[in-house]
Amino acid sequence: AASGDSEQRTNIRVVIRIRPENSRERDAQNARTVVRPLDEQVLVFDPQEEGSPSYFRGRRVRQRNVMRRKNRDKQFAFDHIFAEGASQEYVYEHTTKSVVDSVLSGYNCSVFAYGATGAGKTFTMLGGPNQPGIMFLTVMELYQKISSEKSEKLCDVAVSYLEIYNEAVKDLLVPSGHLAIREDPQRGVVVSGLSLHKPKNAKELFSMLEYGNTNRTQHPTDANAQSSRSHAVFQVFVRQRDRTANISTNVRVAKMSLIDLAGSERATVTTNRGARFREGANINRSLLALGNCINALADSKNRGKHVPYRNSKLTRLLKDSLGGNCKTVMIAAVSPSSLSYEDTFSTLRYADRAKEI
Ligand code: ADP
Ligand code: MG
Repeated sequence: AASGDSEQRTNIRVVIRIRPENSRERDAQNARTVVRPLDEQVLVFDPQEEGSPSYFRGRRVRQRNVMRRKNRDKQFAFDHIFAEGASQEYVYEHTTKSVVDSVLSGYNCSVFAYGATGAGKTFTMLGGPNQPGIMFLTVMELYQKISSEKSEKLCDVAVSYLEIYNEAVKDLLVPSGHLAIREDPQRGVVVSGLSLHKPKNAKELFSMLEYGNTNRTQHPTDANAQSSRSHAVFQVFVRQRDRTANISTNVRVAKMSLIDLAGSERATVTTNRGARFREGANINRSLLALGNCINALADSKNRGKHVPYRNSKLTRLLKDSLGGNCKTVMIAAVSPSSLSYEDTFSTLRYADRAKEI
C-alpha cells in the first residue's frame, strides 16, 4: 500500500528463539550453555558466572590462562525471547498472529526465520505433523477468519512456495526452470510462471508444505548433510471484496511472505572452492542484502532514503513486502550450546542490527 512520508513507519519486530539442547550437545564433555534468557526481553550471551575460574573470592580477577576464552557476558534486548520450552503455538501467537490481521487489512507482511544450520529455522516455520509451524498456523488462521466473515466478504486465498538458490528462483511445488522476478505497476512484485495453489484443508496444506520442503536444494555430500543452502519462500495471497460492492471498488489484495532463510553460517567454514564457494557467496549476498535493507528501514534517520533492494534476488522479491506499512518479523533461531558459540554470537549481532533504531 502506498503511504505518505509521515506514515513511512517501519514495523519490525525482532525475536529470538532458543531451541532445546540436542543429545550431542548434552553429551559433549566441554559443552556448556551460553545463551541465558533473563526475562522475556533480555538475554545474556556467554554469561560470566559466580564460581567460574575467573572469579576469586567474589572478586573478578584477570584470567591468567590466555588460551581460555574470556566470557563475553553480553546482554542483548529484543522484542521477545522464546526459551526452549516455548511451544509452536506460543511462538506463533507472539510473533505472527497479529500480522495476519494486518494482511487482512490489506498490507503486505513478512516473517523470516534466520539462523545457522541446525538452529531451528525449519522447525519454526514448517515444523512436524504433530507440531506444525508458523506457515501452517498462519494459513489455518486465515481460513478461520475468512469463513467467519463469509457473509460480508468474498475472499480468495492462494499459496505459492519457491526457493532462491544461487540467486535463481525455482518453484518448489511444480518442477520449473528459473523464474523471473518482475515488477508490475498494479500487482507489485510478481514471479512469472510461479504456480498458485488452494489447499482445501489442513492435511492437504501440510503435505504441500512438506513436499515443497523436500524439493529444496540440498547437498548430501556436504560436511553437514542437513544444511539448506536455499531460501524457502512461502507466500499467501489474500484477495477480499465486499459482497455488496461493485467489482471495481473495495478490492483488497495483500500477500504474506513466510521465509525459511538459508543457513547463516559463514561460507568459509562449510565450503571450499569452485561451485560450492560461489553458492556460499550468493547466500551471504542475500542475507547481507536483507540485513542492509532491514537496517535502512529500521533506521529512523534514514526515513524516505534509499533502501538497497536491488542487491539480491531475495530483497528484489520482497521489495513490496518490507518497509512502509508492512509488518516484518525476524525470528532469529539459536542453539543454547557452546558448540555453536560463534554462529550464535553472529546471529545475535545480526538480529541486534535489525532492530529499529
Ligand atoms: P535449521 O532449519 O535451522 O537448520 P531445524 O529446524 O532443522 O534447523 O532444527 C534442527 C533440529 O533441531 C531438528 O531435528 C529439529 O526438529 C530440532 N529442533 C529445532 N528447534 C526445535 C524446538 N524448538 N523444539 C524441539 N526440537 C527442535
Ligand atoms: Mg532448515
